[in-house]
Amino acid sequence: MAETDIGEEAARWVAENWDADLTVGEWWQRLADAGYSHPTLPEAAGGRGYSRAGNAAVRQAIADAGAMGPPTGLGMMLAAPTIAAHGTPAQIETYVKPILNGVDAWCQLFSEPNAGSDLASLQTSAVRDGDEYVVNGQKVWTSGGKIADKGMLIARTDPQMPKHSGIAWFAFDMHQPGVDVRPLTEMTGRAIFNEVFIDDARVHHDDLIGDVGNGWRVANDTLMFERMSLGANPVPLRSCAPGSIANNLDKRAGDIVERARSGEDGVPQPNLALWQRLVDHATESGRITDPVLRDQFVRFYELATVNRLTAMRGRTRGASSASPNISKLMMSELFRSARELGASVIGMDATLATQGSLESQIQEMVMFSPGPAIYGGTDQVQRNIIGERGLGLPREPGPGKETPFSELPKN
Ligand SMILES: Cc1cc2nc3c(=O)[nH]c(=O)nc-3n(C[C@H](O)[C@H](O)[C@H](O)COP(=O)(O)OP(=O)(O)OC[C@H]3O[C@@H](n4cnc5c(N)ncnc54)[C@H](O)[C@@H]3O)c2cc1C
Repeated sequence: MAETDIGEEAARWVAENWDADLTVGEWWQRLADAGYSHPTLPEAAGGRGYSRAGNAAVRQAIADAGAMGPPTGLGMMLAAPTIAAHGTPAQIETYVKPILNGVDAWCQLFSEPNAGSDLASLQTSAVRDGDEYVVNGQKVWTSGGKIADKGMLIARTDPQMPKHSGIAWFAFDMHQPGVDVRPLTEMTGRAIFNEVFIDDARVHHDDLIGDVGNGWRVANDTLMFERMSLGANPVPLRSCAPGSIANNLDKRAGDIVERARSGEDGVPQPNLALWQRLVDHATESGRITDPVLRDQFVRFYELATVNRLTAMRGRTRGASSASPNISKLMMSELFRSARELGASVIGMDATLATQGSLESQIQEMVMFSPGPAIYGGTDQVQRNIIGERGLGLPREPGPGKETPFSELPKN
């Protein structure tokens, strides 16, 4: 179906179904039942099999109607597409459905104190014990860990195998003894991410996504979905966190939309809508005539436009396999550029801002802006991948690929 048809069909559906008096849980269930919660998933996994352009058309229809978006968070962004791609039909039923209707929130248990960019160095172990695995280790920078019901856990099942082989990807229950989630406060003042200590926790063999030695491939797909989403700058929608701990399902959907509209919710996306808000602000204050500021405005506009076009090219057939990495890299540049522009426009007012104002959003963006150059793989790592996969440059030197993990030097 063409994008315009998808958009029109979605707009008709939203007009018939959206009601601000529904609870969040009821609205999310309607979206999920119609395949509009995550339209890029295959139909068998509760989506509509749309392309990213089709997804953008659906999001636009929801935004135009002033309706609430689907659940936010890493379940939607990472766990659902990964399990849809690698899970059995039973696993899709068990795990993807409660993501699409917002019942479960997920976190990503990938990074460890000694395994970030070099993720395959992970040392969290999963040792087989009958039908289960016993898990021990430490994860870090776990976004949303405090409100997660489930975790995308990668753990080492066999240290005698080469580094990238003895790894498994599990759907891991966060509500169990032996899982200790400790918040880490960032300079924004929020505590988005956490340390997670795992001490003799358990995961059933049925919760292994993909084969036991195949976790690295599954994890790479998770990372690919992450880079694609982080670089996509999607149509922004007003929504809230899913899951049993965030406890939003019984709230009135219209109230969530209103609260998000008033701008309470953190860092703005670095897009042309933000650019326009900054132009309006500078016009009102009279600073729009400042030639240095005008220069910054043009630079950001160019960057945002090029980023949009790059994302469009990434959606076409024959796009480079490194295109998610290019978009992700551009997004961190866009965050930095928006930070500089925003800080120039707002000036000292940012430090006295009231919550929900443009000034406070820019202040938060200034504090948050180093993050996008780190999460989902740092800028340097994206450049390495673009060089190796996109341009065919030689791989980074390192130990032989067949060396057992147990024989490699570790921190
Ligand atoms: C806001 C935020 C949210 C996050 N959320 C999550 C999450 O939910 N789950 C999760 O698992 N992780 C999460 N992370 C962690 C993130 O994925 C890691 O921080 C990232 O992969 C970098 O790892 P590291 O911090 O260990 O840095 P390191 O890997 O130690 O890197 C340190 C520096 O060395 C550079 N470097 C490393 N290797 C190379 C190389 N081969 N070539 C060139 N330069 C190199 C890096 O670019 C970096 O500048 C989050 C991070 C942030 C900032």
